[in-house]
Amino acid sequence: MRALIMEQGPDGVAQPVVKDIDGGLLVKRDVTVKVEYSTLNYKDGLCMSPKGGGLVRTYPHIPGIDFAGTVEASEDSRFSPGDKVVLTGWRVGETYWGGYCQEARVDGDWLVPLPDGITTAQAMSVGTAGLTAMLAVQALEDHGLKPENGPVLVTGAAGGVGSVATAILANLGYEVAGVTGRPEQADYLKSLGASQIIARGDINETVKRPLESETWAGCVDAVGGDMLARVLGQMKYGGSVAAVGLAGGAGLPTTVIPFLLRGVNLLGIDSVMQPFENRQRAWARVAKDLPMDKLEAMVVPATLEDLPQLGADILKGQVKGRVLVKL
Ligand code: NDP
Repeated sequence: MRALIMEQGPDGVAQPVVKDIDGGLLVKRDVTVKVEYSTLNYKDGLCMSPKGGGLVRTYPHIPGIDFAGTVEASEDSRFSPGDKVVLTGWRVGETYWGGYCQEARVDGDWLVPLPDGITTAQAMSVGTAGLTAMLAVQALEDHGLKPENGPVLVTGAAGGVGSVATAILANLGYEVAGVTGRPEQADYLKSLGASQIIARGDINETVKRPLESETWAGCVDAVGGDMLARVLGQMKYGGSVAAVGLAGGAGLPTTVIPFLLRGVNLLGIDSVMQPFENRQRAWARVAKDLPMDKLEAMVVPATLEDLPQLGADILKGQVKGRVLVKL
């Protein structure tokens, strides 16, 4: 079976190699899945980097933090051969071998049955990044966000999380403002439904005043760092920010003033250990609330051979939308 495998040299540096591997190398687990599609997320870029980004501890290693495919064999009563399934998270592709291989062996607990109305290709066009965008929108709604509350900001808008968040929010009737460092992606973001484009430089600077004018009813933040700190001070009274990513930095140089004087909520979003029920709810909402024509517009098709370059690109913030990898 074909796989992208990270092999470590004597100098401790790992290199991606695409080759046929013996299925006997895969660790035996409850469910065997024929992987049809995988994708590229920021974490995959880290796992394909020479030192594994602090995520990969043992080599050889097969990356790919998510995949969708068909069950081939199962010792778990919840799954039967022929079932369509999707996997995101649970440290697959980091600690365990992942989706950059035509076959994967996984625990049944890690799988979600694919909801009706969505194909394995569409599921991986969404991928972990898109599912996380949906989890973020759900969390904002659970904290009272409604379209009439005002505009919603999406940071890192032209990336994977940002593109899907923009398309879902616009489809749900929200006024969406997208922050991007790539002005050439303005038309793309408008095609996904953003009505306002904000230049990264206008918002990505150190907080000078803890409170600015009340602008955003909600925010999906893929960037963190100075940008998240600024956004907190721009939230409307009682508004919520879903903190998803750290593309701009892991720090949060801010004050508690937005929380104390404006009742702003900072909601942490984790997709990796997300409980099954909430994953299922999010996948069902993806099938319902993400327009598939918008999804197609954000997808770049790729092969295993393309992944090493794309992995380096995503770490530099240079990948647009979502990458779909056919196995
Ligand atoms: P992408 O690289 O596709 O998107 C990130 C975007 O952030 C870029 O496209 C760019 O958008 C913007 N960006 C990049 N570098 C910077 C910078 N230095 N300063 C400001 N903005 C920057 O990655 P994903 O969308 O896949 O992931 C986004 C983040 O979310 C990552 O940090 C990832 O680790 C995290 N994540 C977290 C998950 C969770 O469970 N919490 C799950 C999935 C992802 P633009 O060009 O438009 O400015």
